[in-house]
Amino acid sequence: MGGIESKPERSAAGSSDLDENYCSPLPSLQNQFYVTPKIPTTTMLKSTEKLIAKELKFASGSIGENGQRVVDAYDLYLVENEGGHLVLVIFMKVQFKFNDHADQEWFEHEKHAYVQEFEEIINRVWGNNRVLKELSENQRVHLDIRFQSIVDRWSFNENWEVHVTKIAEGKFYQSHLNPITGKVTLDSEDVVPLERERGISQRGIVHEFGHMLGLPDDYAEDSPHFHDVASVMHSGEAVRPRHDAVFMKWLHRKLEDWQKGKLV
Ligand SMILES: [Zn+2]
Repeated sequence: MGGIESKPERSAAGSSDLDENYCSPLPSLQNQFYVTPKIPTTTMLKSTEKLIAKELKFASGSIGENGQRVVDAYDLYLVENEGGHLVLVIFMKVQFKFNDHADQEWFEHEKHAYVQEFEEIINRVWGNNRVLKELSENQRVHLDIRFQSIVDRWSFNENWEVHVTKIAEGKFYQSHLNPITGKVTLDSEDVVPLERERGISQRGIVHEFGHMLGLPDDYAEDSPHFHDVASVMHSGEAVRPRHDAVFMKWLHRKLEDWQKGKLV
């Protein structure tokens, strides 16, 4: 057994050692302009996951007036998990701003419940570890969607700024999104299913998330999928393989490099 090593006594004030450890208190102004610290990769990936490839500031899809890509829509990570399968992680930083409207006021617990529902519902519909690709008999690529949500705090490096207005139960307002400014406008009823066509319901957040991925509306008159009413980009919540196209090209390119041994 090795003995306990005694640390050298700290010398008197004035030594360089002491100077380096000195921190001045932050000015109170810092609290008003909170900047999210750079998130280390390890917090968005699990400790058991091995990074294969990543893409920060991913420009995705084709929406907007001229069908342009959504700049910095989300980050992509391709990792290998402990079971030997691959996971494509869509990582999105979202800043939430909650707005009261008329006599409708947000309570603190409602804001947090909304954010939790947003993350859970979206991952269940869009991600949920579903299989994107079979690589071999015992190796698949799964999809997982992860969020970093910032609530009522200032931030500069988020992918999307989501404004949520509190409205009366049962009311409906059209939600929308601006791919240029990265601003999404939602309301408190967007986590509640609404029957949009006979027998077909949709929660607003699930549809808007498709736009956040860079997908256009399937109900647009010039869309080839105009008659696919159950589609998530139409009036329902069905995610079709074509909706994965926004990130599949990147995945295929990275898989090719990885299989050739160019990565890792
Ligand atoms: Zn839409």
